[in-house]
Amino acid sequence: MSTEERLIAERADTLRLIASLSGDWDGVVEASAQTGVDDEHDPEGATIAYERARIEASLARARAHLADIDDALRRLTDGAYGTCESCGGPIGAERLAARPATRTCITCAST
Ligand SMILES: [Zn+2]
Repeated sequence: MSTEERLIAERADTLRLIASLSGDWDGVVEASAQTGVDDEHDPEGATIAYERARIEASLARARAHLADIDDALRRLTDGAYGTCESCGGPIGAERLAARPATRTCITCAST
């Protein structure tokens, strides 16, 4: 599988994840509308607020990952793929194999 094919497959997975999280999100919003609970003071509301925050965080992560993948695909076309966005050095082949959408080399990622 080429890098491009891997990125496209990962993009499809991420889109599915976002769709599923959006569905969860709608469910939580609906549940809180139906119960009409007070997020801050009702124990049920606290659970819904927690669930909402958890889904929101997962959605934010998935959307950021999608942006990374789109960017990686763009860099593949540009010929800039595999170059660290932070230091401009090469990103190791091993790191790219493990995380094809990464923007930074291992050195920059760990600082
Ligand atoms: Zn770097």
